[in-house]
Order: sequence, then C-alpha cells, then structure tokens
Amino acid sequence: MTSLPFQFDISLAQCNTLGLPARAERFLDVTSIEQLSELESWLKQEAAPLLVLGGGSNLVLSDDLPGVVAHIAIRGWELMAEQDAEVLLKVGAGENWHQTVARTLESGYFGLENLALIPGTVGAAPIQNIGAYGVELKDRLRAVEVFDRHDQSIRQLSNAECRFGYRDSIFKSGEPERYIITAVELALNKTPDLQLDYGGLREALSGIDAPGPLDVFDAVCRVRRSKLPDPAELGNAGSFFKNPLVHSAVYERIRADYPDLVAFPEADGRWKLAAGWLIDRCGLKGARDGSVGTYPRQALVLVNWGGARRADVEHFSSSIREAVLDRFGVELEPEPRFYP
Ligand code: FAD
Ligand code: NAP
Repeated sequence: MTSLPFQFDISLAQCNTLGLPARAERFLDVTSIEQLSELESWLKQEAAPLLVLGGGSNLVLSDDLPGVVAHIAIRGWELMAEQDAEVLLKVGAGENWHQTVARTLESGYFGLENLALIPGTVGAAPIQNIGAYGVELKDRLRAVEVFDRHDQSIRQLSNAECRFGYRDSIFKSGEPERYIITAVELALNKTPDLQLDYGGLREALSGIDAPGPLDVFDAVCRVRRSKLPDPAELGNAGSFFKNPLVHSAVYERIRADYPDLVAFPEADGRWKLAAGWLIDRCGLKGARDGSVGTYPRQALVLVNWGGARRADVEHFSSSIREAVLDRFGVELEPEPRFYP
C-alpha cells in the first residue's frame, strides 16, 4: 500500500516536445522532497522501473512506459548568499529553465543570458550540462542537491563531483539511474561578464554599441526563434546529435576534401565538427521520411511532421547516422535519451 497520489494510464503526448504518443502506466507529480523516499521504497518493493521527467525536451519515448513516470515539480528560489560581486542562488528542480534565466536578469544577476530559451526544467539542466553560444551550465553551477536512490539520502554534489563534460555529466553517462536532482545552486555575477564569441550572436548584436546582458538575452531569443522550430508548433527535441569530437588526423582528412568544413579546435587538441554541417553535406537538410524529417532551416534538428512514433524516429535517425558515416567516416551520437 502507498499513499502516493499515482495517476494511471496517462498520456504523455503533451509532456514530450517531440510529441510522441507515449502512455505512462503510473504517473506522479513530485512536489516535495519527502515524496521521494516513499516512491523509492515502493519502486524497490514492486521492482518497478522509474523515468524521471522534466519538460520532456530531450527524450525519445516508446508507446508504453512501464512502472512510474515521476514528473519533478519541486519549486523554489532562494538567495543563499550575496557578496559584492557574486550571488549564490538555489533554484528548485521543477522550475522552468527559461523563466529562471529571465528572473535572474530581472534581479540583476548575470551569467545565464546565453542560455536563454532552452526548453525544460532547472533540474534537467545539469543532466547534459546544457550549453549554447559558448556558455555551459557548469560555468555557472556551484552544486547540485540530489536524492540518492542508493541510500535514500539528500546530498549535495559539488561541481567537480558532477563530472561535467561536453553535453555530459555523471547523471547522463556515469551513474544515470542513481540521482534525482531536487535543486541546483547557481553562482552568478552582479557585474556583467559577457561571452560574445559565437559569430551568430555577435552578428545579432552588431547594431548595438555596448551590449549589456539584456541585449544578449534578447539577441539569443531572437536568433533561436528565427532558426529553431517551436516545439509548441512542430514536435522536436532540439539538436538530435552531439557535435562529434574527433582527432586532428580525422579533421585534416575531411578538410582535405571539404575545405569549407565547419569545425572548432578543442583545448585537448581534438576538433569539434558541426554535426548540422555534416548532415547538410549529405544532402539531408530538409529530408523527410514519412512523419519524420530534418528541419529545413537546421539539419541537426529532427522534427515530427505529425503522427510519428518512436520507431519512425529511430529509423530516420539511423539513416542519417549511416549517411554521415559513409561519407565522412564519422559516428554521430544521439543527444536525447531513448527511453526505455
Ligand atoms: P527531460 O527531457 O524531461 O529529461 C531529460 C533527461 O534528464 C532524462 O534522462 C530525464 O530522466 C532526466 N531528468 C530530468 N529531470 C531530472 C531530475 N530532476 N533529476 C534527475 N534526472 C532528471 N540543450 C542544450 O544543451 N542546449 C540548447 O541550446 C538546447 N536547445 C534546445 C532547443 C529545443 C527547441 C529543444 C526542444 C531542446 C533543446 N535542448 C538544448 C535540449 C533540452 O532542452 C535540454 O537538454 C533540457 O535541459 C532538457 O530539460 P527537460 O526538463 O525537458 O528534460
Ligand atoms: P551555430 O551558431 O550555427 O553553430 C554551429 C555549430 O558550430 C554549433 O553546434 C556550435 O557548437 C559550433 N560553434 C559555432 N561557433 C562556435 C565558436 N565560436 N566556438 C566553438 N563552437 C562554435 O549553431 P546553432 O545551431 O545556431 O545553435 C546555436 C547555439 O545553441 C549552439 O551553441 C548550440 O549548441 C545551441 N543549441 C543547442 C541545441 C540542443 O538541443 N543541444 C539546440 C539548438 C541550439 P556547440 O553546439 O558546441 O555550441
């Protein structure tokens, strides 16, 4: 027996931005940390699987999801410390990411402006160390508060313990089932320190003499709205593949045949290849197979033109991976999580 307010056989079509027709056997809105211990005990007793769900913007779901889908709806915004130059903020995992970015700027706390308009929740942001326009969450994160499913304790993981990497962390590839994130602690500046390295962002700010953080926020929102499909109108999960990191020999080999290759040097000597460019050069920008295709304005984004199911997404994404492997000898790795 449990007092948890499960709902049964719930449609998740509106809870994943790809718009796949998934159904949860049991669905639970988690609004407090206290519910997590009871949930964990129930899952152990029933040997049932768990999907932790935020905004569903980085997931490819099957039709039927067994066990429990726990939607994290833990709210909260707390100023933990304030110094001359910096503030430390604790934000609940269930808060909306973009609204949180906007609220930090309204409060005069800077550093998240490049990460505007990324869909999803605060609690999911550390999972793949969200990044855009040269800023990653790890650059602004002090610690993560987690529920540890191993011993049902609430703990803090420091930035280093999260083992952040490029679109990666301990939560995504280290121990993916172990932690439920309940809050995130952000260290933000009271004086702007803008990151304007990306060409697209600089271009969008070109008419402004001395841009401030709000200008950057507005420019990021403008560029994203012009390039990316709005999930409310066209199902998608953002970039479907990570940009591959390759050794310099691979980069040189491809560049010898394609001098216009879009690639960026990494600190460790490897090169980051623009996956969207690779797909485009396979002639697949705007390609479509039934209900799934690549977005005509950004080949890296797969879209659900209507009625797609997981198998369609799997089939189409595999065909893209094969095309890129055939032409460039480079493996693309999907960015969203396929569940189960
Ligand atoms: P979900 O999709 O609900 O979950 C993603 C993963 O996190 C799952 O494995 C889930 O189990 C796990 N998870 C969720 N919440 C928790 C929690 N509290 N504790 C433990 N595990 C949890 N990503 C970028 O990095 N940069 C971008 O610029 C970007 N742009 C995007 C643009 C569009 C239009 C879309 C659709 C997606 C984009 N994304 C981007 C991907 C996505 O928005 C992010 O990865 C986001 O952080 C996912 O948040 P979510 O709440 O939707 O997570
Ligand atoms: P873009 O600016 O057209 O750039 C294409 C690719 O080149 C990007 O993937 C980016 O890598 C890389 N790049 C560009 N300038 C760079 C620089 N100065 N240094 C290092 N790398 C550089 O990309 P876009 O499609 O319009 O996206 C803009 C930003 O939003 C990117 O950071 C992108 O990651 C992010 N975004 C992410 C998602 C997602 O779902 N993950 C979806 C949409 C947009 P990076 O991707 O490593 O930044």
